[in-house]
Amino acid sequence: MPFDKLYVKIKCPTCNGTRKFDACGYHSPTNPTKWKDCPYCDYYGSRLIEAADTTIIQHLLELPKERRDSIIAALQNIPQEK
Ligand SMILES: [Zn+2]
Repeated sequence: MPFDKLYVKIKCPTCNGTRKFDACGYHSPTNPTKWKDCPYCDYYGSRLIEAADTTIIQHLLELPKERRDSIIAALQNIPQEK
């Protein structure tokens, strides 16, 4: 198993996905339009967080029916431990 947790990618809550970081010295007072990049997110302004069970369930419910049914069928075929 590669990971013991599942993650979802969300819009960075610190910079709101803009990659502009406006706290604690990263803002240049001589050039207010120039910002340094947000240190908390990736190039696309997103961040990975651990997915809660309810998030995974909600994601599955929003999938197209055919894909959701194939995932549920695969999960039901997991061998049970004795
Ligand atoms: Zn950010």
